[in-house]
Amino acid sequence: MTDLSTNLLDLVIANRILAHEDVVDAFGHVSFRHPDNPDRYWLSCSRAPELVVAEDLMEYNLDGEPINQGDRTMYAERPIHGGVYQARPDVQAVIHNHSMTVIPYGVTNTPLRPIFHLAAVIGEQVPVWDIRDTFGDTNMLVTTMDQGRDLAKALADGRVALMRGHGCLVVGSSIKTAVMASIYLQVNAKLLSESLGMGEVTYLSPGEVELMGQTQVRPLSGDRAWEYWARRAGC
Ligand code: MN
Repeated sequence: MTDLSTNLLDLVIANRILAHEDVVDAFGHVSFRHPDNPDRYWLSCSRAPELVVAEDLMEYNLDGEPINQGDRTMYAERPIHGGVYQARPDVQAVIHNHSMTVIPYGVTNTPLRPIFHLAAVIGEQVPVWDIRDTFGDTNMLVTTMDQGRDLAKALADGRVALMRGHGCLVVGSSIKTAVMASIYLQVNAKLLSESLGMGEVTYLSPGEVELMGQTQVRPLSGDRAWEYWARRAGC
């Protein structure tokens, strides 16, 4: 199979995995950058991730204009994807979700940092982006390229950014890495909320985040986790 057809298959599986692990519900989406054309990305038409099939996948330019729309409807928040792909040549996959356990860390001054080894993949610092800072009162959705680029600026060179009162943005060098980071971001948020209620929390050190983060995205661990999540999701 070509890289493109492999990625298209993985994109369907990624949708199913994120739904099965409760990272997404009716909302949320995942995309990948075209492996042969860095100015394009692939994303499902507007549909709940659990239901996405190969026929739903659409190609876009980085401004979010469709290449092969047909009669399909589109996600309103695709500027999240294009904004990141324009700003970060290293990013090959983008996920946007509203994971419930993560939301509290976007609306309080309690930082979301890794406290267990498998969450190293989210990075040591997780910035919070507030759409209101630049755009005032909105419907909270990232629907313009100016908003998408502003969010990408807050992400900077990291892997995760929280979106105040809305959700989060997770990026990766592959679909598999972005899916892994999304799942462990959610798990870490739940564990951290529990730990904060029990007493003073010890976080991973910057060195631990660096070393474990490298270990965990190797194919040995990345493929093992992917196979497990895909099977659980019925793929
Ligand atoms: Mn959203």
